Amino acid sequence: MYKMVHLELTNYCNFNCPFCPIEGMERKQGYMSLENALNAIEQISRDNISSNITYHLMGEPLLHPHFEKIVAAAHNGGLSNHLVTNGSLLATDRFLRSCQYLDWLSISLRVEDQSKFSKVTSAITYETYLSQIKSFLDQLENWPNLKVRIKIFQEPNLQYAMRALGLDCPDNTQIQLKKDHFLRSNLCVIFDPLLDWKGNTNKFPSRWFGNCREFNSFFAVLVDGTVTTCCWDHKGGNSIGNAFQGDSLMDILNSSKAKAFLRSFEKHRVPTETCAICLARPTFFRSIAYQTLCILNLR
Ligand code: SF4
Ligand code: SF4
Repeated sequence: MYKMVHLELTNYCNFNCPFCPIEGMERKQGYMSLENALNAIEQISRDNISSNITYHLMGEPLLHPHFEKIVAAAHNGGLSNHLVTNGSLLATDRFLRSCQYLDWLSISLRVEDQSKFSKVTSAITYETYLSQIKSFLDQLENWPNLKVRIKIFQEPNLQYAMRALGLDCPDNTQIQLKKDHFLRSNLCVIFDPLLDWKGNTNKFPSRWFGNCREFNSFFAVLVDGTVTTCCWDHKGGNSIGNAFQGDSLMDILNSSKAKAFLRSFEKHRVPTETCAICLARPTFFRSIAYQTLCILNLR
């Protein structure tokens, strides 16, 4: 059973985050049809593919016009709903009506001040953005089964954003990256290192050897039905099939292409150019060092 399935409801986004490759995205933009989304959810539930589902790879899921119906179907099918959102649409009726079906809500609070925020969106100010999130957090008791995670980059001004949300920020010395810090039983904050999804710093692909177990636990269905091996693959370069062209998800996940991908990493071999780029390092020497450690199974 997979730990999580990423169902990319849309690859449209109302933000343009500095670390995100969405600006140069070559994939056609669109919304997953309601029929295709419901069909995928039915298979995930019926065939015990996973008990957890989330709704992004690229894109802001709350832009999808049928978001509420989709999360209701997943909830009624026994799946645990995890929504990751940029937090800009938390005041909308669509979102508030959907909360009854959500188990986890992760709010990606990825910019630390107005000057950076104005490059991400001109639709609202940073103050309005934070006050909308705060207002939602103040209503949290309306949804007793919902847990909220604030995802925040470890940046110098994170204390400011936390204070604006009315939350205590853990002391800098106590912050452990990539670990949930619970502030209440239903509210936690997680600090992530700065992300370079565009690959600006890691320019030397690790072409020959590498280790990655993402596809043992996760996979993604992109907006056009392309099934890929992980949530890093924003281009769909690791496609193992298409879920909207007749094959079931189980057929695709058990296909010879999927098995060959897994076998490759079992032998510490990098299966695709997409993986080689994902496993890139900032210098040629570091890439060779990384690959050597992978052969020895030390990375
Ligand atoms: S990181 Fe998410 S919210 Fe930011 S631009 Fe990319 S898809 Fe949108
Ligand atoms: S692109 Fe390849 S190496 Fe990177 S996370 Fe996905 S499966 Fe792993």
